[in-house]
Amino acid sequence: MGQERRGWEGAVLRLMGARDFTFTVTDTEDLGPSFRRLRLTDGGMLAATGVHPTMWVRLWFPGTGRPHQRAYTLVDPDPAAGTLTLEFALHPGRASDWARAARPSDTIGATVQGTGFQRPDPAPSHVFAMADPASLPALNSLLDAVGGAPATIWFEGDPGAGPPPRTDPARHEVRAAPRHEAGAGLVARVREELPAPLGAAAHPYVWIACDTATTRALGGYVRRELGVPRRQVHALGYWRPS
Ligand SMILES: Cc1cc2nc3c(=O)[nH]c(=O)nc-3n(C[C@H](O)[C@H](O)[C@H](O)COP(=O)(O)OP(=O)(O)OC[C@H]3O[C@@H](n4cnc5c(N)ncnc54)[C@H](O)[C@@H]3O)c2cc1C
Repeated sequence: MGQERRGWEGAVLRLMGARDFTFTVTDTEDLGPSFRRLRLTDGGMLAATGVHPTMWVRLWFPGTGRPHQRAYTLVDPDPAAGTLTLEFALHPGRASDWARAARPSDTIGATVQGTGFQRPDPAPSHVFAMADPASLPALNSLLDAVGGAPATIWFEGDPGAGPPPRTDPARHEVRAAPRHEAGAGLVARVREELPAPLGAAAHPYVWIACDTATTRALGGYVRRELGVPRRQVHALGYWRPS
């Protein structure tokens, strides 16, 4: 997809030092009705940029007039082989439509800019995570990155509906919370359940990646009302409800 058609977004990203690559689909796999996994070659990206936990790229999906960028997390990136996997939570939308129709040899533009990972310091004694299908790939990567730390995960939606959460029942407790009232249900549940185990953790680390409004509400609650220091909280909205 021509970079010149990416408009002002593409121009700003180039000014900020973003780097552009082309991914090619090599294999597809349906994981139930609401998830699709694609395997791709990376166009030389991983060897050039390196890899870090929860790494994501901006992908350029075809749209009327011009391409539209959406963020997706790299699953099992392999710089030596030049391959990676993407896991799409499916819903109405350009990116989902592209993923549903994707076939081997299809290509898509990818831009690397804005991704990063700050390793929690001090190392967490307990991770408290709030996630949903869109952030499940990043949650899996986070759990790998924090190694042996136990985790309590509030998962908005059905954790069994997509790629398997890479959780270890000996260390990770997953509390499924069906989405209702546009995320307010999850916020109420966390407000009710989080304070006790958080208070018992010497070095808690709170990781929040839900829709933007839910993420903002949870982040504010954890920082302001529970008093968790800012450096021990990571909150990033993963999608915007409309
Ligand atoms: C850093 C980062 C990494 C991400 N990684 C992944 C990933 O690995 N896998 C993944 O599936 N998503 C991921 N996302 C989320 C993804 O970028 C958004 O869901 C994106 O909006 C999808 O684009 P779309 O064109 O399909 O839908 P849009 O055109 O953005 O939206 C169309 C409609 O679908 C609704 N919608 C959008 N996203 C969702 C959703 N997740 N659940 C329910 N309804 C939705 C919108 O509210 C709107 O009504 C990530 C987001 C961020 C910020």
